[in-house]
Amino acid sequence: MSQTTQSPLMGQMMSQPLLISSIIRHADRYFGNAEIVSRRVEGDIHRYTYRDCHKRARQIANALGGFGVKMGERVATLAWNGYRHMELYYAISGSGAVMHTINPRLHAEQIAYIVNHAEDQYLFFDLTFLPLVEVFAAHCKTVKGFVLMCDKERMPAISRIPNLLCYEDLIANNSDQYEWPLFDENSASSLCYTSGTTGNPKGALYSHRSTVLHSLASVMPDVFNLSARDAVLPVVPMFHVNAWGLPYSVPMVGAKMVFPGPALDGKSVYELFEQEKVSFSAGVPTVWLGLLNHVAQNNLEFSSFKRTVIGGSACPPGMMKTFRHQYGVEVVHAWGMTEMSPLGTACTLQAHHLDLSDDQQQSILEKQGHAVFGVDMKIVDDDGSELPWDGKTYGNLLVKGPWIIGSYFKSESGDVLEHGWFPTGDVATITEDGYMQITDRSKDVIKSGGEWIGSIDLENIAMTHPAVQQAACIGVFHPKWDERPMLVVVKKPDAEVSKEELIKFYEGKIAKWWTPDDVAFVDALPLGATGKVLKNKMREQFHGYKLPTA
Ligand code: ADP
Repeated sequence: MSQTTQSPLMGQMMSQPLLISSIIRHADRYFGNAEIVSRRVEGDIHRYTYRDCHKRARQIANALGGFGVKMGERVATLAWNGYRHMELYYAISGSGAVMHTINPRLHAEQIAYIVNHAEDQYLFFDLTFLPLVEVFAAHCKTVKGFVLMCDKERMPAISRIPNLLCYEDLIANNSDQYEWPLFDENSASSLCYTSGTTGNPKGALYSHRSTVLHSLASVMPDVFNLSARDAVLPVVPMFHVNAWGLPYSVPMVGAKMVFPGPALDGKSVYELFEQEKVSFSAGVPTVWLGLLNHVAQNNLEFSSFKRTVIGGSACPPGMMKTFRHQYGVEVVHAWGMTEMSPLGTACTLQAHHLDLSDDQQQSILEKQGHAVFGVDMKIVDDDGSELPWDGKTYGNLLVKGPWIIGSYFKSESGDVLEHGWFPTGDVATITEDGYMQITDRSKDVIKSGGEWIGSIDLENIAMTHPAVQQAACIGVFHPKWDERPMLVVVKKPDAEVSKEELIKFYEGKIAKWWTPDDVAFVDALPLGATGKVLKNKMREQFHGYKLPTA
């Protein structure tokens, strides 16, 4: 980390630590009647207010104290987006313990590995995950109790889970008299493991300071642009990089919160959008596919939806156009990663872009965008020399800032930084005026005859073809060129397109040598625990495949 010097004259403002508890206290005091609406695992809709949430979070904080959970100790959750999960966000971090959200889409062994690595003391989980917890509970070495997030009536009569407790019992048996403790803002607040597509998952340990700063930055107009007039539905799960910080930023501005629970299919999400007048949402592209299909197939419209942030993987331009032109929904393309809390960049137009044609504006909006204040970025070559911002030269993307990782939790290799910068593993270009565009993840770049071909461009073009639902491009072995691009396509239901047509579709859109050598049609692409296409799995599937050009 960079060195700082102490000035002989220090500022004379109050020294008040930036703590997560201050967010829910603020929401209670100034937006106490704003609503949190949740589709519950039980199937019904639950509604209450920030004031109620704050009260119950204090009750759970008392329960944790009763368990003997100490500052800095980890408490895990395995839960959907819902009000009880939100209470835990504040109860655990606010009391000084560390909120460890676990992705339930991981395998039971991976979850047990993470729980043991984090040394979780308690594990809170939704009813949906009872069978999953039964599989791995016995392998958790440090967990003293498992809390089922339901009421007494829904507790199983018998269970293999040791020391199984009931969430609503904890609420009933604990007082709401609780003072959030004050402590150093650099104390650990929460822990997220990367999905570990290669090797074991690694933990990013956030602090109260990093979380509060990230929340403040994320609500700015050219980022999420959130206010007390919004109703926000986080489609991105609370177990995936803290739902991009929305459980903090939404109460911070006093917006209404709408939690979808486990029902993430297009129909259920659409219903909630309309019933609760949702104006803002955020998620990875794959979930929007389901919603857009449902809306298109049923000739529906959005009556209140105004803006969505799409990130986690590249937003296909066709999806952005559909949202913008067909439904009048503004799309903010954003980029980040678990190691960055996750927000790095967001793409919006500037005053001098407003007179451009729609096509020109669209081509800017398709980029991943500008660094959010607090984040700095640069692109470098393999020797670490900085590369020009000309919108063409691509290089390894490095970032730094107060909510970017310095080292992984309990990692033996220590500092992961290169001269104070975090290497993201992404390859990108940056334009003269600072718009960053991801070309690829460095491990997914297709290396053809010593030159690089970015897979995202090839996928985006394929996905503008009317018959293509989803496309992914990988490098496949070629005896002359090392690798050549191969396109793997999921067709839209009832749509037809041939391999030759798709290859021809690239004509005039890219350099000729970038054109995929082959196309394979599949029923579905392999998706990882965070809804992203697993390219390493695809490369395994096509290992040894003989290209027609080989
Ligand atoms: P994991 O892939 O392990 O779930 P993250 O969710 O942290 O981890 O993923 C971060 C990565 O996702 C980035 O390094 C980048 O490769 C990719 N990514 C995120 N947002 C975008 C985007 N808007 N466009 C392209 N790639 C993105």
